[in-house]
Amino acid sequence: MNVMADKPTVVEDSHRESLVAFLEFAVEAVGVAQSQEGDLVTLEFNHREHPAWPRPYQVRVSVATDSADLPRRVVPATEGIAWLWKLAQLERGALLARPASQPEAVHEITRALFEAYQVDGGQMHLAGCRINEVPFLRVTELATDDPAQVVHRFYNAEMQPVSDDEVASLGLAEVVPLGNHPTSFTRSAVHVLVNQIEEAMPGVVAATVVIAKRAEGAIQFEIGEQCAQVSFNDWTRSLSAPPFRCAASGRETFHLAALEDGRIVAAEAIAECEHTGTRVLDSELVTCTSTGKRVDPEITSRCAVSDSVLLTDEMATCKTCGQQVSPAVLDAGSCQACRELPLARATDELIAPLLERYPRLQQYGKFRAGQCGGVLRVMAHGWWRRLLLAVPSDESQPMHLAMRQGLAGGWEQVPEADWPQLLGQPSDGATE
Ligand SMILES: [Zn+2]
Repeated sequence: MNVMADKPTVVEDSHRESLVAFLEFAVEAVGVAQSQEGDLVTLEFNHREHPAWPRPYQVRVSVATDSADLPRRVVPATEGIAWLWKLAQLERGALLARPASQPEAVHEITRALFEAYQVDGGQMHLAGCRINEVPFLRVTELATDDPAQVVHRFYNAEMQPVSDDEVASLGLAEVVPLGNHPTSFTRSAVHVLVNQIEEAMPGVVAATVVIAKRAEGAIQFEIGEQCAQVSFNDWTRSLSAPPFRCAASGRETFHLAALEDGRIVAAEAIAECEHTGTRVLDSELVTCTSTGKRVDPEITSRCAVSDSVLLTDEMATCKTCGQQVSPAVLDAGSCQACRELPLARATDELIAPLLERYPRLQQYGKFRAGQCGGVLRVMAHGWWRRLLLAVPSDESQPMHLAMRQGLAGGWEQVPEADWPQLLGQPSDGATE
C-alpha cells in the first residue's frame, strides 16, 4: 500500500519528544513489567499470561544518552521500542491512547453543560447523549536530525494530515495509554487503520491510535407543561453548552423562563404588562393610546374609526352607531365616523339596496352614508326624526339602529323588536 506517496505530508515537525519518553509511553501502553537500574531498563512479560507473544520474554534496554558501546545482551532504546511495537500489534493492533485531558464519559460533561443554564421555575435534563469514538493516527518516526528524539505526525482515519490547530484543540499531542478504558475498536479495525501507513513510511518506529471522542445529544428544558431543547454535537474536549435560541424573540440565551401562556423563551425577552402584571414578550407589548401603558395585546382592542390600539377596558360605545371606539374619537357621545358622514343620494350603490329592502326608509328626504372599519353607516334625515343604521360591510342585516327625534333630542338605541315599526318588514330578508 502506498497511500502516503501522493499525499501532502507537510505536517509540522514540532511534535517531538525524547526516544526514552516515548519508550516509557510504549511500555505502559503495551503493559509489560519494567525495572530500572541506572541507565539499564529491563522489560519483560509473563509468557503464560501472553501465550501468543513470541520470545524473547525479556529485553534489556539502555536508556543512556550515549549507547555506542553497550554491554552484552543490552539493546538500544530503538530496539526496545521495536520489541514493544511488535507486541502491541499482536495484542491490540497498535499502541492505543487517548487525549490526557479528554472527558471520556457522559457524566463528565453533563455538569459543565447544566451549569451554563438558568431555568426559571423549571428544570433540565439530558434528552439523550451518545459518545462516539473517532480514531486518529499518531505516526512516530526517528528524528532525522537527532537520534535521541522521535517526531510524531498526526493523521485522521483517511490518512489526511491533521492541522496543528486541530491537534491542539483535540489534545492529540498529550496522550496517555488507553489502558482498560473501554473502546469499540477491535484489533482488526485498528489493523485497517495502521495498515495504511506501513510500507509507505519506512522510517516509522511505531503507530498509536489515539481515540478522540465526540458527544452528541440534547438538553431538555421543562417549565410547567412546556418543554424546549438544545442539541449539541462536538468533541468532548471542546464541548461547551450551546445557547438556547428563543424562537419568539430571536435571542440566544442561557437564561430561560416561561411566558404567561406557557411558551419557553429567553428570560431577557420577557416584560410585564403594565396593566395586569402578566409576563409577556417585550416585543409583543403594545402601547395603549389612551393610557400610554405598555400592555399585553390580549387585553387591547383596535378602534375601527381611528385605527388606534387601546386597552379594551378603555373603549367606549358610540351612542349613534353602537360601535366600540376610542374615547378620543367621541364628541357628545357620537364617533367621528358618525359625525362626518358624507351626503348620499338614494340611488347611490352604498344605500340603494338598503332602501329597497326597507321601503319605509324611502320616506326620508335626505341621506348620509359612509363605510369605516368594516361598518356601513347610513343616516336617514326626516323633518322630525333621524335614523342611523349600522350594517356590517359584507352583510345586509343591520346590527344597530339608533334614532334621534326633535331638535334637542339625543341619539338613542332602538331595541331590535321595534325595528319593523321604523323600517318596515324586510322585503327580501327571508331569502337569506
Ligand atoms: Zn358612531
